[in-house]
Amino acid sequence: MRTTLEKVCKIPTMTSATPDALDSLLLVQEKDNQILALHHQIKRLPEREEIETKQEEKSELQNQIGTVQSELHENERVQKRLEDEVAILEDRVQRQQKKLYGGEIKAIKELQALEADIEGLKERQILVEDQIIEVMELNEPIIERIKELENTKAGLEGTIVELQKSLMQSEQKLQTLITQSEEERDELTKDVQEKLLEIYGNIRKQPGSVGIALLSGSTCRGCHLDLPAVEVDRIKKLPNDTLINCEECGCILVR
Ligand SMILES: [Zn+2]
Repeated sequence: MRTTLEKVCKIPTMTSATPDALDSLLLVQEKDNQILALHHQIKRLPEREEIETKQEEKSELQNQIGTVQSELHENERVQKRLEDEVAILEDRVQRQQKKLYGGEIKAIKELQALEADIEGLKERQILVEDQIIEVMELNEPIIERIKELENTKAGLEGTIVELQKSLMQSEQKLQTLITQSEEERDELTKDVQEKLLEIYGNIRKQPGSVGIALLSGSTCRGCHLDLPAVEVDRIKKLPNDTLINCEECGCILVR
């Protein structure tokens, strides 16, 4: 299939361009390729992937911290319940002791019953206090684990900040190069007619097209395909300033 400039560009095409203008356009294309490569480099900066990996590690760590913390909170709830029970028991012991030593109750049997009650309450209190110690002992390694995880997380956060700083620096460096290349490109385009630039720009929009390329022998350096001998012959016979394009990739050919 023959790709004509009209088909590719959808704008009025030019029929001729001076070899000088085409040479300049080749240099513009070189700059465009550089700029494209730099943008690609910005997107592919290794720090970006590293940051993502570290963020994932951090969120995994956060989940672990959450699980361990809820275990701790559950134990703390149990501890609080037991401590409340101790307070109630202490209170009850005090009230019973007041009755016992208050002197209002005289009956031996009643006094003995009070003593037995106090004894029972104290036994229960010792039991509950032992349970509190058990829960506290359970919590010790959990608190240690949380500390460990928090430390690892803080380390990760530090690494992420460093990576972000480094990413920003790399981006800035590349952006400076892009700006520089763009300025150089602007300078080069001064030697190329606007219309020719527009045609080139439209061809370049085609997927995989470089826009302009050297014709070396019968090979288009844009698509690296050989033009048919008939086409090469036809081109050879054309005047020097005739604008030609590769019938394979559509790019402008420079002889
Ligand atoms: Zn080609």
